Amino acid sequence: MQLTAVSLIKYPMTQLPFGNTQIESKTLLQQIESEEAIEQLESAGIEDASTRIKAFVAVVPALLSWLETSGRHYPWRYTTDPWRVYISEILLQRTRGDAVAEIYDKFFEQFPDPSSLDGATESEIRNTVDSLGFGNQRTRTLQDVADLLVSEHGGEVPVSPEELKRPWRVGNYSAHATLLFAFGESRPLVDANIARIIERYLGYEMPEQPHKDTDVYALLDSLTPVEPDTARAFYFALIDHGAKICTSSSPSCSECPVAEGCQYWIPDSPST
Ligand code: SF4
Repeated sequence: MQLTAVSLIKYPMTQLPFGNTQIESKTLLQQIESEEAIEQLESAGIEDASTRIKAFVAVVPALLSWLETSGRHYPWRYTTDPWRVYISEILLQRTRGDAVAEIYDKFFEQFPDPSSLDGATESEIRNTVDSLGFGNQRTRTLQDVADLLVSEHGGEVPVSPEELKRPWRVGNYSAHATLLFAFGESRPLVDANIARIIERYLGYEMPEQPHKDTDVYALLDSLTPVEPDTARAFYFALIDHGAKICTSSSPSCSECPVAEGCQYWIPDSPST
């Protein structure tokens, strides 16, 4: 997101767990770069781009209200501690939230900070995260994280996307999610759930790997509210809506809080 006068304002942080779920469309419009979003859609060949973006902005308040009543109460959403947020985002890669929630307490009792993880043996780490799958890869990433933070950052989580992405197999999503959910920096997030809803609602054809596509990042960047607590709610709402309502195989359009204006709306779709 470009640093405009608006984005340089310091905002109070943070309403846990979901951020600011109470916002009107006209306020949201002041917080996003709608003209840039329209340009992104037009360059993808969408003629009524302006109408689609306006419709999207109009339904976001309903999406955030839905989050307040139906969002998932995971433990990492109740903290802005950078260590807990960063590690949780790494554990969530290719993994269900419920599975990570099951080992969350045990993990942070065992490894309350980078130095405790740095001092652990490979088998101690592996035993703790084994239930999540990908045990070897996950252990190597966690060892990398601990080594980097202890040896180069004084045991602190760095406020830098480049540094957050340096450990093996840590990518844009984990880095940006840490900056947003721990440090209160509005950053675009792209994962499968988020990309799917944007694709369906706006009728924007996603590439095969949206999380690696600069145009997709530019579109999400323009739609990300500049106020971090609203951005927090915006992304948690998209993530949870994608997991519970707008699922990949069977979207429940009849229960969808953002059905109005959706390009993919399916009548008589199944209930959750
Ligand atoms: S109306 Fe259906 S396809 Fe559109 S966002 Fe809602 S659940 Fe997804």
